[in-house]
Amino acid sequence: MNARPTIGVLALQGNVREHTAALERAGATAAPVRTPDELARVDGLVLPGGESTTMSRLLVTFGLLESVRQRLAAGMPAYGSCAGMILLARTVLDGRPDQEQLGGLDVVVRRNAFGRQVDSFEADLAVDGTGDEPIRAVFIRAPWVEKVGEDVDVLARVPHTAEAGDAADRIVAVRQGRVLATAFHPELTGDDRMHRLLVGIAEEDVDLEER
Ligand code: GLN
Repeated sequence: MNARPTIGVLALQGNVREHTAALERAGATAAPVRTPDELARVDGLVLPGGESTTMSRLLVTFGLLESVRQRLAAGMPAYGSCAGMILLARTVLDGRPDQEQLGGLDVVVRRNAFGRQVDSFEADLAVDGTGDEPIRAVFIRAPWVEKVGEDVDVLARVPHTAEAGDAADRIVAVRQGRVLATAFHPELTGDDRMHRLLVGIAEEDVDLEER
């Protein structure tokens, strides 16, 4: 039996409650993370959707920026959704000049790439590693990925549909080692498959430590 990993949810702003519920359903013990001490106690971390510029500022205020960077550099499993994807990216286009990056993902993302809040967009996406059923993806002022480094796997692209328009083919889910990111919000539709992927990655680490 796999040990139940503890997965933190960065709880400074954004969809914290929804990610917490999804993680518990996916087999983890979920814990809010607001301090370096709380971060030190988790086996992995979810960076929720919200507003990346605000979260960046709060990461500095709460003294978490460097500790999250260090954990990611040391290989902590992580999953960023929407604003979380932006925070994990190496480079952000259309960001604020003072917006801080956590690193972890060798990608270039474009912030608010799909348009404004009113232009939220939904699509059924085939996401590698989550089985045959498509994921209903909800995009809300979402970023997309414009460039990926050679160690990054593309897990999903926007399908060619009438509504997709210029967004067709854009990269919206990626994985680099133990770090996952989606431009969409599976936590809002009750689909736990991205969370299960993260919990699976964290379980491998916990099992190794116990051996
Ligand atoms: N546009 C937001 C940002 O820049 C992301 C939106 C979201 O997380 N739903 O952070």
